[in-house]
Amino acid sequence: MQIMVNIEKDIKEIEASNPGETEFHQAVREVITSVKPLIEREEKYQKLSIIKRITEPDRQIKFRVTWKDDKGNVHVNRGYRVQFNNSLGPYKGGLRFHPSVNISVIKFLAFEQIFKNALTGLPIGGGKGGSDFDPKGKSDNEIMNFCQSFMNELYRYIGPNKDVPAGDIGVGEREIGYLFGQYKRLRNAYEGGVLTGKGVSYGGSLARKQATGYGLVYFTEEMLKENGLDIKNKTVCVSGAGNVAIHAAEKAIELGAHVITMSDSTGWIYDPQGIDIKIIKTIKEVNRLRLSEYHKYKPSSKYHEGKFMWSIPCEIALPCATQNEINLECVKNLISNNVIAVAEGANMPVSIEGIKLLQDNNILFAPGKASNAGGVSVSALEMSQNNIGLKWSFEEVDIKLKKIMTDIFKTASSTSKEYGKPSDYLSGANIAGFKKVADAMINQGIL
Ligand code: NDP
Repeated sequence: MQIMVNIEKDIKEIEASNPGETEFHQAVREVITSVKPLIEREEKYQKLSIIKRITEPDRQIKFRVTWKDDKGNVHVNRGYRVQFNNSLGPYKGGLRFHPSVNISVIKFLAFEQIFKNALTGLPIGGGKGGSDFDPKGKSDNEIMNFCQSFMNELYRYIGPNKDVPAGDIGVGEREIGYLFGQYKRLRNAYEGGVLTGKGVSYGGSLARKQATGYGLVYFTEEMLKENGLDIKNKTVCVSGAGNVAIHAAEKAIELGAHVITMSDSTGWIYDPQGIDIKIIKTIKEVNRLRLSEYHKYKPSSKYHEGKFMWSIPCEIALPCATQNEINLECVKNLISNNVIAVAEGANMPVSIEGIKLLQDNNILFAPGKASNAGGVSVSALEMSQNNIGLKWSFEEVDIKLKKIMTDIFKTASSTSKEYGKPSDYLSGANIAGFKKVADAMINQGIL
């Protein structure tokens, strides 16, 4: 029996009770709209107000972070941690340090994280945090001062069985190291499992750094395979030049793809001969410089100032920078250049209208909450290694990562078919992730 549901009314009410939180509204709309077939199929979700409950965080923590720069000036930033849902395990999700961070951004990321983590099949709930601190141009000492002050407040709320942060934009191994050092000092205990993305010498997992980018390509390969295609010899545009972008490009190149673009927050490069990932690593990871430097190493490439609009023809697009980087205009550019697949490495990089246009044109679309789940999956493997006191080899972790990504793809694909939307991997992923969390919430009672 099909149940009558008014999804739009629920979404409007959620928007009204979270005014001005546009990114959060967007993430809620995307998920809730696509789970409508599930809500219509089983009465319990409506009866037990699951939509209202699942869109309200368990708690939102907001705090002051005061720190000193190298000249002795005192600065104040704002820190956040949103602990959204722990029905499946301890809250888990990264920390983002970027001037654009606000409560809406952290809530959207934490909300997405709940379903992403559910899809991995691992015992982790959803959370996210960060600060409007801008790490760009700061010395190591200033970064350390900020991280220590951030942890002076955050440590009260996290723990290996409670909430386990990791990295995200602006937070890599260096920042995790400073955060972990301060947590250890405050707790006077070595609780390795409290943070993931740690340095390999003190409890970090091999292949964590590569996991999101590699995982994205593993997922994309599966999606192409199901549709009789292959990544080999395909032309690929990548955006971003950070952790996810670098490793997505590296794996795509390793599998025989031709990667021709990358971007950062100031501009983008087009290298028709194919991006040299070693040069990118030297510029971005070692020297922490702008992408404009690439031209000095490869004069045949072109550097363009400004936002990358996806106007370079490619068969596969891998957006790996930030939310809403692909708007309707970018999607039109991609379609007019005959793109065959778009796979999200970043969280919510394609706007809702953009996704619709891609799907209306039968372009394969991999939603981030499924296709970029490799990072959190290896983070969960890091927690397991910390718990049992063992260290797995790079190859062992990579094999596990590949299996997890293949399983996530199979779940998204089979669920899309089960709900009458074959190849709609967005609906498949949303329904599968939502159902798992909602059923756990129901089984654990009205809380
Ligand atoms: P990084 O900080 O390592 O890299 C981000 C890249 O995107 C940088 O090249 C940065 O430019 C660029 N960028 C950031 N903000 C903007 C902006 N507003 N406009 C244009 N370019 C921008 O972050 P990650 O690679 O870790 O994260 C990238 C995306 O992937 C994010 O959406 C994140 O949430 C998502 N993600 C990350 C995971 C992980 O394991 N790290 C896991 C799952 C998802 P610049 O170099 O100039 O700073």
